[in-house]
Amino acid sequence: CGIVGYTGHRPALDVVVEGLRRLEYRGYDSAGVAVVADGALASAKRAGKLVNLEKALEERPLPVSGTGLGHTRWATHGSPTDRNAHPHLDESGRVAVIHNGIIENFARLRAELEDSGVRFASETDTEVVAHLLAAEVAAGSDLVDAMRSVCRRLDGAFTLLAVHADAPDRVVAARRNSPLVIGVGEGENFLASDVSAFIAHTREALEIGDGQVVEITPDDVTLTDFYGNAVEEKRFHVDWDA
Ligand code: GLU
Repeated sequence: CGIVGYTGHRPALDVVVEGLRRLEYRGYDSAGVAVVADGALASAKRAGKLVNLEKALEERPLPVSGTGLGHTRWATHGSPTDRNAHPHLDESGRVAVIHNGIIENFARLRAELEDSGVRFASETDTEVVAHLLAAEVAAGSDLVDAMRSVCRRLDGAFTLLAVHADAPDRVVAARRNSPLVIGVGEGENFLASDVSAFIAHTREALEIGDGQVVEITPDDVTLTDFYGNAVEEKRFHVDWDA
């Protein structure tokens, strides 16, 4: 439902949780975050309001990191439990994924993955994406190439964000028939389902067209279609109060 990603010079968790708070008005049933730190992923997720997640983070703080993502979920597949909350990780815990929308062909993809020995941790349509991305990266793909190739296999509407333990300063994302926008800062970049998540930090924004994939680092934004072709950047300035 609400999606925020960040990479830059601030503690990512602060930016992400504050962003989720600004998206709260949209309604949700659970929330979660992941950060990349010291060559590993750390994540936390809880059913219920953001305050449940914040309590969990107080009890077991995540390492400070400049790169992270966060999600508030409105369950479509699988009940609103801690386990079904996003992010979803692959079995090795190296990839974390958050998702808005519905992966229509998830049952077939899940059956294929289970046949090849993958064990699932949730009942969501989303989790297939974590396992598919992990397999592509394990086979030698860069995370952003992996995202493109996985998107070509997905039916349905989605906004996806992913981080990888081996990519300490990048967040990769994709969208089809579901909102996602880039906030452009100085030495930091943002991704969000709605500009209100980042306008406290920057009002410079970039559109992400339908069927596009983006990679952000603190200093760069790279946009392509699902096949890796460069696409034209459409900048805009947020001059309204979101
Ligand atoms: N279909 C996903 C789920 O049920 C994402 C729901 C959402 O858009 O928040 O977990």
